[in-house]
Amino acid sequence: ETAPQQVADEPLLSIDEISKTFGTEVAVEELSLAVEDGELLTLLGPSGCGKTTTLRLIAGLERPDTGAIRVDGRPIATGENTFVPPDARDIGVVFQDFALFPHMTAAENIAFGIDDWPESEQQRRVAELLDLVGLGEQGDSRPEELSGGQQQRVALARSLAPEPTILLLDEPFSNLDVDLRVEMREEVRRILKETGVTAVSVTHDQEEALSISDRVAVMHDGRLEQVGRPESVFQRPKSRFVAGFLGHASFLSGYVRGDEVDTTVASIDRDQVHGLASQYDMTEIDVLVRPDDVLAYPTTEAEADGRVTYRRYLGPSVLYRVELDSGETVECMHNHSESLDLDTPVSVTLTADHELVWFPKGSPSR
Ligand code: ATP
Repeated sequence: ETAPQQVADEPLLSIDEISKTFGTEVAVEELSLAVEDGELLTLLGPSGCGKTTTLRLIAGLERPDTGAIRVDGRPIATGENTFVPPDARDIGVVFQDFALFPHMTAAENIAFGIDDWPESEQQRRVAELLDLVGLGEQGDSRPEELSGGQQQRVALARSLAPEPTILLLDEPFSNLDVDLRVEMREEVRRILKETGVTAVSVTHDQEEALSISDRVAVMHDGRLEQVGRPESVFQRPKSRFVAGFLGHASFLSGYVRGDEVDTTVASIDRDQVHGLASQYDMTEIDVLVRPDDVLAYPTTEAEADGRVTYRRYLGPSVLYRVELDSGETVECMHNHSESLDLDTPVSVTLTADHELVWFPKGSPSR
């Protein structure tokens, strides 16, 4: 028998229909995913959706019940017998708590995974990594002498030292202060892109996923809901779950009539509704609207579409929830200078000039 040939356009990491059950709990269900060479892909989803289990399956810390995981076309784990142990996978992991050795300096921590390299090679690699992560002067510092962001830089450098094929990052920013989180997102992305390593990250924070990733894989109940570029999962969610998990989502009931879709607040040009096939003529659909797609302005009781039932001041903007007379709820985002009191009768207008996504009535996806 000949060994399987590597196909030129084979993804670097491919996951084929893997499932993992703990007792009766299905953590991951028939998940398939392909990660390209040099790509940063983020697994995003709520707590318990199976993202950590997926990461652990790739790392070799769990075995799949069924399915296969391949790197460069070679199986590293299958539901049958193949199981390459974690330390033979050429896969690095950056843990949530960084897991640095407290008694070692930054340089020693970074050298830990390459202690079998010749001394001079180790030193060269450590210096190169300290530079890469912006810690050229901190090589002799111990973790306790470093800030959270610096500790994360050391953890990243340590995982990158052996030049892994794939780097896995488990909730990489959850141990950092909010301010530092945003700064480190940019830094981590820069560092990963500079090394060209293929990376899979895990988070439940949609803003983080959208801002650092080449592609985002949205998980729900152990399954993959949608995978795509940040803009595409945000602007073209394929399910109500994805729509709602990636940002505030309101659904306006719309009746499809000829070239228009009639909703309680506006008549929408059919062309503005993405891919609305003729089979939906004369039917009710739900149109997705985000808070920046609508505006509410005060008006008389007689003219009003509804009233303000919720107000959240966010600094630069204010989020309002409007309860429409039709019983529907719509959220809108206003500039902070425009203030509406609770209970104000308002008219709602649709200001969106981009294509709108819709869902068939009663169906979670389309
Ligand atoms: P979180 O963000 O809370 O870590 P997650 O999306 O990473 O959530 P997983 O940790 O992968 O989700 O867990 C998926 C499901 O599998 C959960 O219901 C969890 O309770 C269950 N689970 C995970 N690991 C184990 C285990 N070792 N034993 C039993 N059940 C487990």
